[in-house]
Amino acid sequence: MKKTIKDYNLENKKVIIRVDFNVPIKDGIITDDNRIKESLKTIKYAVENKAKVILLSHLGRIKTEEDKIKNTLKPVANRLSELLDKDIKFIPNTRGEELENAINNMDVGDVVLIENTRFEDLDGKLESSNDSKLASYWASLGDLYINDAFGTSHRSHASNVGIASILPNGIGFLIEKELNNLLDTINKPEKPFTVILGGSKVSDKINVIENIAPIADYILIGGGMAFTFLKASGVNIGSSLLDKENINFCKQMLDKYPDKIILPIDVICSTSLDSNECRECFITDLKNNEMGLDIGNGTIKLFKQYLNNSKTIIWNGPVGVFENKMYAKGTEELCQILSTLDAKTIIGGGDTASAAINLGYKNSFTHISTGGGASLELLEGKKLPGIEIINDK
Ligand code: AMP
Repeated sequence: MKKTIKDYNLENKKVIIRVDFNVPIKDGIITDDNRIKESLKTIKYAVENKAKVILLSHLGRIKTEEDKIKNTLKPVANRLSELLDKDIKFIPNTRGEELENAINNMDVGDVVLIENTRFEDLDGKLESSNDSKLASYWASLGDLYINDAFGTSHRSHASNVGIASILPNGIGFLIEKELNNLLDTINKPEKPFTVILGGSKVSDKINVIENIAPIADYILIGGGMAFTFLKASGVNIGSSLLDKENINFCKQMLDKYPDKIILPIDVICSTSLDSNECRECFITDLKNNEMGLDIGNGTIKLFKQYLNNSKTIIWNGPVGVFENKMYAKGTEELCQILSTLDAKTIIGGGDTASAAINLGYKNSFTHISTGGGASLELLEGKKLPGIEIINDK
């Protein structure tokens, strides 16, 4: 068990909390503040326990000076201030006198948000390569380090692994919740255990399939990745997405787990993603110029039978091109089915999480992960460096 924020006396301590404020921002407006909301519990706990709270987060990728303008954390500071109903001191730099003075002048209960940690990537990728000097500098600003950024815990950066290797440390409530839901479920799923996999590429999910197939009872495959499996099973997939290099892998998996891997029996297809026309057909009836873009009604019914019998369900990857309303039905119906089940239902982060939240199902699952890449790596059976570095109790 990892140490948590609750294992420390925070009074009068400068507590650096690495949060995940990597939220989508369009024209200066935050379009989804879920990650900020998910960070509140730990921040509030630190404030209530009389810490001086120093927040660090990244936002997007920084390769040019222009990226810095687009990816400032200033809008996040404003939203955080509204959500906490409290003034937040935003420091528009990642180091220097203004930052140091602000921290030296903090009172207990104050919250300071430092500018995007990846501004340090512009000259030499200091943040992303876990530069030891940068990590030492940031560590020198605080007394205690708390990692609550689940979404970046699969990375080894200066703002997580770097600082944690220097300061006393622990995890926050969000990471604790993510581990309790994801890791505990993978380690000890109540059976029957069903995994739904979708998304575009097989190559992104090979390790997940290899790790999860021995433990899962069923793997329901939809999305673009289903077509490489279908091709491997001898079906004509028309012009659907194909991951040629992995046809053999899919064949091996189908041979090894013939009763576990469940593929679509029908699809919604079209000749082009830009066309206004689509039709539903059996999977064996795809024409050469047609591509499958969502699962069909027969597949939804088939998947429902497996889901109705499951006690644990983990879902990673949309089962159709859900960004286009014409191909969102499969993903939406699965949300609906899962929301009514008496089962533990977990949504991996990324696209599936945004789809579920945007479709109005935010509170309908046992857990929606805040980290797509991180939850995928847990499903692959990997250890996450940002969590591994935290001391055990
Ligand atoms: P991933 O990032 O691998 O989880 O993939 C998510 C993407 O897969 C989304 O942008 C979907 O539009 C896309 N996707 C889902 N189903 C299909 C499909 N049948 N064909 C092509 N792309 C798909």
